[in-house]
Amino acid sequence: MKVTRIAYSARLNPGKYAALVEQARRLGRVRSEVWQRYGSINGVGAGLRDRQVRDRWLADGTHARFGVSANAWKETVRDAMADIAANLAAAKVDVRWAISRRTTDPAERRRMFTALKADQWADDPFLSRQMRKHWMRGRNRTHDQIVVRADKYNTAVDGRGRLWLAIPGLEPRKMVRIPLSTTVAPTGTLRLILRGGRVQVHYQIDAATMRSSQRPCGEATMGVDKGYTEALTDSDGQPHGEQLGDLLTRESDRLKERNRRRAKLRSIANSAAGRGDHAKAHRIKANNLGTVKRDRQAARHRARVRTEIFTAVHEVVDKAATVMAEDLTKRFTGRKKLSKNVNRRLAAWTKGVTAEALKSVSERRGSALVHVNAAYTSQTCHRCGRFGRRSGDRFHCTPCGVVWQADVNAAINILHRAGDPDIALHTPHHKVKQILQDRTDRHRTRLPVQDSSPATTGRRANYPNRSTMSNK
Ligand SMILES: [Zn+2]
Repeated sequence: MKVTRIAYSARLNPGKYAALVEQARRLGRVRSEVWQRYGSINGVGAGLRDRQVRDRWLADGTHARFGVSANAWKETVRDAMADIAANLAAAKVDVRWAISRRTTDPAERRRMFTALKADQWADDPFLSRQMRKHWMRGRNRTHDQIVVRADKYNTAVDGRGRLWLAIPGLEPRKMVRIPLSTTVAPTGTLRLILRGGRVQVHYQIDAATMRSSQRPCGEATMGVDKGYTEALTDSDGQPHGEQLGDLLTRESDRLKERNRRRAKLRSIANSAAGRGDHAKAHRIKANNLGTVKRDRQAARHRARVRTEIFTAVHEVVDKAATVMAEDLTKRFTGRKKLSKNVNRRLAAWTKGVTAEALKSVSERRGSALVHVNAAYTSQTCHRCGRFGRRSGDRFHCTPCGVVWQADVNAAINILHRAGDPDIALHTPHHKVKQILQDRTDRHRTRLPVQDSSPATTGRRANYPNRSTMSNK
């Protein structure tokens, strides 16, 4: 398993940066061409590989239009084809859900899953309709990246101990040398991302070599619920990543305040331009509405949140050999336009990071991650199975007469879902509700004594329920 590391350029000369930006811009046109031609049902559906694309381009001379070296465009074609494949895989996840909703017949399901996996959906009307619906035609939005193959760059340390990375530039046989702010040389294929006058060098290392990967996992089986105040709560009732809420609230407040200030400055600049004072408008745009500082602050915040979430997941895996969790990648395919609301955008993003952390840490440390259907786990009582009322971080169950800590209640429900014989991962939301309601109804009719007093009805109703929860 691989994890991504990022090195940054240090005091890079602006001339070199501009040359790199130009190279990335031209490679962005290569990406756009790949998406344009192969980013739809007919492209990848036809089973084209990046090598075949390269051969075609060499044959028809497409490559000559871009003004970049052979290696640069070939690597970019490979990278863009991989992006298209990931885009396709995300669409297939949605189609799998659609298949589950359409039929309960196991043979029919298997037939469709197999056809989908083998990219043979074209002949099946339902599958091809679903693929057309979920596989939106993507387009390239990447114009600031350069991918460099492992044998095309080199690194060297100068007399003052500074590490330099040399990559091919636009001029043949001339390398662009980039000073780095680290002494650890990047390895393998590099992805250079150009942002705010700085070069980010992304590369992957083998996770097995990381110290945190050597840490053994625990022995327990545990459910976890994703929260906002804390990153995760486990079914023992222990919170993990307790700083998360504060980090997100502070960032959200800061962003709102900053956006307000920027909007004001923008309107001042616009009215200055309206009056004909273009110098002033330009000054404001250049000095007060730049993106360098903004992007750096955002990157720092993201790094802090990631650390908090990864630490939380490590703590859970310290205890658990098996972690039951909601599949957080669902409904987060990234194709829906993200909300303008700052809070919601941050929450959606942290959800993605939590999903990534659960998967990555489990794989590295050898614990099992089991996805369960989390429908209604935050709305039902883990003790009696009935629907209750959630207010803030409390969960009220009237029949039990108990107030649970809401996240702990949800985490325990998630743990129980793994052994639930009726609720599978893909059971639709409305069916889960029906199953849960049927269960509590069944218990109500089995009540030995009907009592008109609501308090005792509640308490009595408890007993038969407990027996059915024996799959604890
Ligand atoms: Zn209850």
